[in-house]
Amino acid sequence: MHQTVSLDMQHDVLKANAHIAGHNHEKLVGRRIKSFDFMGGIGSGKTLLIERLAGELHKRGLRVGAIAGDVAGDDDFRRMEAAGIEAVNLNTLKECHLDANLVEKAIESVPLDDIDVLFIENVGNLVCPADFPLGTDKRVIVISVTEGDDMVRKHPLIFHHADIIVVNKTDIAEYVDVDPNIIVRDAKEINPHVPVILTDAKHGVNMDALLEAMGF
Ligand code: MG
Ligand code: ZN
Repeated sequence: MHQTVSLDMQHDVLKANAHIAGHNHEKLVGRRIKSFDFMGGIGSGKTLLIERLAGELHKRGLRVGAIAGDVAGDDDFRRMEAAGIEAVNLNTLKECHLDANLVEKAIESVPLDDIDVLFIENVGNLVCPADFPLGTDKRVIVISVTEGDDMVRKHPLIFHHADIIVVNKTDIAEYVDVDPNIIVRDAKEINPHVPVILTDAKHGVNMDALLEAMGF
């Protein structure tokens, strides 16, 4: 009985989230803003990737906004601002993921008329963000070779729902004894049509391939 109640409650929460995510998406599409939810563990390189991609998009004359989701602090927010991104800081305090309701409120602080692209950097984990779509065009999972070659096998759900998978820090793969091709193989098994892009954000490697997968 107890389990039935909690499952019903969870179902309602996810349903409400999906409904608000739909509104978020309508709002962004209505302004012709392309939007991306970047999910991945702490230290996978989400913020640096967003900084690099913003730099490339700026060169193409596109204006970039971002919502920096973190449990606490404004480190990522300040890095994004320094990179010329219209950034909004979103601290979840106790929550380990962003949800559509939090994003709906944060979007009110984003200058939507002044941006063409919106990045949302999710809180650093690969478990619960999978259940909470935010209303972006695409969901991008970032993992780093430093996390090991078993990341996909350990988190099948989130990889199954990904629109793009990024395997970052390929420059140090040999030093951590990880073969990125194993990660690619596992990802393709779970999600056969997903683009898997190998990047080295530190040195700006393969940013063009990632932008192409994102539709630029
Ligand atoms: Mg970050
Ligand atoms: Zn969570």
